[in-house]
Amino acid sequence: MPIPALSDLLGQPEASAFLSGVVARARYANAYLFQGPAGVGKGTAALAFARAVLCDRSGGAPPCGRCPACLKSARLQHPDLKFLFPVSGEEKDLDETIAATLAAWREDPLFVFSYEKAASIRLSITRDLLRELAFKPFEAQRRVVVVRDADRMREDQYSAMLKAIEEPGASSLWVLTTARPSRLPATIRSRCQKVRFAPLPEDLIADFLSERAGITARPARMLAALSGGSLARALTLREQDPLALRNQALALLEPALRGDPATLWKTLGRLGRPGRETIRRLVEFHQLWLRDILRARYGAPRESLVHRDREEEIRKQAQTLDATEVRRRLMVLEEVLRAMESNVAVEVALFSALTRLADRSLETDSWPPHPTDRWAY
Ligand SMILES: [Zn+2]
Repeated sequence: MPIPALSDLLGQPEASAFLSGVVARARYANAYLFQGPAGVGKGTAALAFARAVLCDRSGGAPPCGRCPACLKSARLQHPDLKFLFPVSGEEKDLDETIAATLAAWREDPLFVFSYEKAASIRLSITRDLLRELAFKPFEAQRRVVVVRDADRMREDQYSAMLKAIEEPGASSLWVLTTARPSRLPATIRSRCQKVRFAPLPEDLIADFLSERAGITARPARMLAALSGGSLARALTLREQDPLALRNQALALLEPALRGDPATLWKTLGRLGRPGRETIRRLVEFHQLWLRDILRARYGAPRESLVHRDREEEIRKQAQTLDATEVRRRLMVLEEVLRAMESNVAVEVALFSALTRLADRSLETDSWPPHPTDRWAY
């Protein structure tokens, strides 16, 4: 993937201006937390920021793009640019898995991180990295550590990381990214300078898909509409039939809301063995459906609805569901996504969540403090 300049981050003018300012002043916090929905460019921004920090010649100016440091950063091979990201698979294959992911990230301009199985930031890798931080950076004044999806860590890793972040006179700059900041310990969040990323405008996604991914105008429009502002989701969906998948998702929702588990189970069975990523997509379509209902309640126009071809149904449901109930349902769906990260049978997790969707017996005060922060409403 080509790393853009900080001034060219796709659809993130505020983050872009803020980070350019940080580099221009060359006054860095110990840690930054890039937060915002999945697939809107937080990871790419982290690389752009890292490259600007590591550039030999910039001295506060935008990175030159030509010095040895810039060339190494662009290949993700700068010795002072470190990565932590979730991986799945066996411990003995970790080196290979990580090298393969970095190679794909480097080579494929449309690379999207996806987690087929339960993936987490591994303890052994974190330990190795923290040990390395005790030494001076190799070439640059400071090391940059990019932690992708930083919410996928174990408790003890957070405390070790916190210690490294707080180390006085540390020569490392941390960039954490997350779509779920509420899952990070408050101690970590409070030590980071926050940088917010917004969902991408639909037009921008459609243009990207047709100009850079070779998708013709009409499917590009549809993918953009179904992407809910996430370029990564649009790119992943292009490999499947997005409308068919969306329709499958809504077909599941129907018996669930009717309170008909037998039909629900049968419908789920018809999907065959859908796999984790597919289930994730189905759940996300349900979330987008609920978000449409919320938007419809506040009188949003047709163009702002993701499932706008089903506008009539959405408007009808918006009349009977209040915002509290919609949020309760979003929370139930969020739990499925959470359960999927451990090794549960995904179909069972989805089934049990869907049967609870229409069940209003769950009390408001039994909710976790942050029902969902996947989407900005
Ligand atoms: Zn440079």
